[in-house]
Amino acid sequence: MDLTTLTKADWHQKAAKLRYETRHFIDGKYVDSIGGGRFEVVNPATGRTFCTVSAGAAGDVDLAVAAAKRSFAARVWSRKAPRERMAVLANYARLLEANAERFALLDTLCMGKPIRDMLSIDIPQAATNFAFFSELIDKIEGTVTSTAADAFHYILREPLGVVGCVVPWNYPLLMAAWKVAPALAAGNSVVLKPAEQSPLSGLLMAELFVEAGGPPGVFNVVNGLGEATGAPLALHMDVAKIAFTGSTEVGKQMLVYAGRSNMKRVSLECGGKSPQIFLADLPDLDVAVNYAINGIYGNMGEVCNAGSRLLVDRKIAPEFIARFVELGKHAYRPGDPLDPATNLGPLVTSSHCARVMSYIERGRKEGARLEFGGATPDSPGSFIEPTLFSGVDNRMTIAREEIFGPVAAAIEVDGIEQAVAVANDSIYGLAAAVWTRDLNTAHKAVRDLEAGVIWVNCFDHGDMTQPFGGYKQSGQGRDKCLESLLSYTQTKSAWLHLG
Ligand code: NAD
Repeated sequence: MDLTTLTKADWHQKAAKLRYETRHFIDGKYVDSIGGGRFEVVNPATGRTFCTVSAGAAGDVDLAVAAAKRSFAARVWSRKAPRERMAVLANYARLLEANAERFALLDTLCMGKPIRDMLSIDIPQAATNFAFFSELIDKIEGTVTSTAADAFHYILREPLGVVGCVVPWNYPLLMAAWKVAPALAAGNSVVLKPAEQSPLSGLLMAELFVEAGGPPGVFNVVNGLGEATGAPLALHMDVAKIAFTGSTEVGKQMLVYAGRSNMKRVSLECGGKSPQIFLADLPDLDVAVNYAINGIYGNMGEVCNAGSRLLVDRKIAPEFIARFVELGKHAYRPGDPLDPATNLGPLVTSSHCARVMSYIERGRKEGARLEFGGATPDSPGSFIEPTLFSGVDNRMTIAREEIFGPVAAAIEVDGIEQAVAVANDSIYGLAAAVWTRDLNTAHKAVRDLEAGVIWVNCFDHGDMTQPFGGYKQSGQGRDKCLESLLSYTQTKSAWLHLG
């Protein structure tokens, strides 16, 4: 069925009939928490409880890690012939797409993402992610090195063992896919801990892996709160790597957990405060302004690489801001996320909404000019109007801290050198963009900007070959790309004395 033809009423009907699991998925089976605990998930569009879900604790994590460890030791996945693993993951990528309706509803009902974004972004990209890593499995090669005649030396690449994936709620399915796909492709067994705000799509992912032909125990899911479930997983002595996406604060905690336990590897994809530099010679004002609008209001601004700082050359600032106000004020309208016409859903929770509103208040108090937005519509859901501040100084709180909401901060700069200095004056370094016609300026900016991803005359473009990850406190390690797959392997050196 072509899901893009469904109406709001169709989606509501489907939501009412939706069946889903709420228990953990361990060793190929759904199981309750040992202690019987559950937590609530509230639909942020309505403010009403959507479901309750099994709340994991250390004992549940132990069971999931033990299942993963057993499956790894039994070599049912790690030593499966590469082309057989490829077939399972390729089949799995197709199953994800075939289950698009369920995935779309699960994430939209839990965290409020517009259903059209699930269909056009999260689901196709998650499937492509699995397809990409499945295609790489038999392309990973070992090496024979040059040695003296009395030795033969080769280097093998082997999986790590049990990989724990701890992921956020802003792209629940996709962020899980960015970790789980390369981990499985490399031959590891996995325990996924989804965010407590969006716990359901991860369960369906694990169930479908078994349906696709994956051995039980290779992909396990334990739900629960960060401290209660994420911490025991990251502290576990049998987990070889934690692949984390989330806030910088919790990312730092992951490093502590690794140090306090078994020195497990840690990869971190954390927060951002990405600058977009708009120079006076940018190629087309309307194109640039539209990218600026979509770069901060898409996914309600709940995007790690959201273009939250607009560094606009003073020469074009009045024109740029006026155009942003004209085009941006009504481009994103809060609405029912199950309505395919909606492009701005609620923020993930009422507490996150209150947090974003407190940043808006802070912006006003610190002297930024509110151009539009800044209010919450009258609704039981946790909606916030798209908001633009101009006259922002990079020292203001709204320019320094990650707001994770639809709030843009426009800062005036004089030329590229000052723009780069302001862009780099941040603890974060996930992404940045520069808009200019001048090739030299563009290349110099690429060299001088401290960020893992730089866009020139575009924003948020990319594909699976693009390493995605941060400089500075935006993290370490890269998702997508070949490098990501290699980071779920370790090398073994075999030195043979030939006598
Ligand atoms: P978060 O750090 O609060 O939570 C992320 C995950 O960590 C969740 O599963 C949570 O349950 C778990 N967790 C929380 N506290 C924990 C603890 N003490 N011990 C162990 N686990 C714990 O982040 P969030 O609010 O879910 O997501 C938003 C953040 O994610 C933003 O900062 C955003 O920038 C970041 N993010 C980064 C990227 C990237 O690729 N760089 C992508 C998406 C989101």
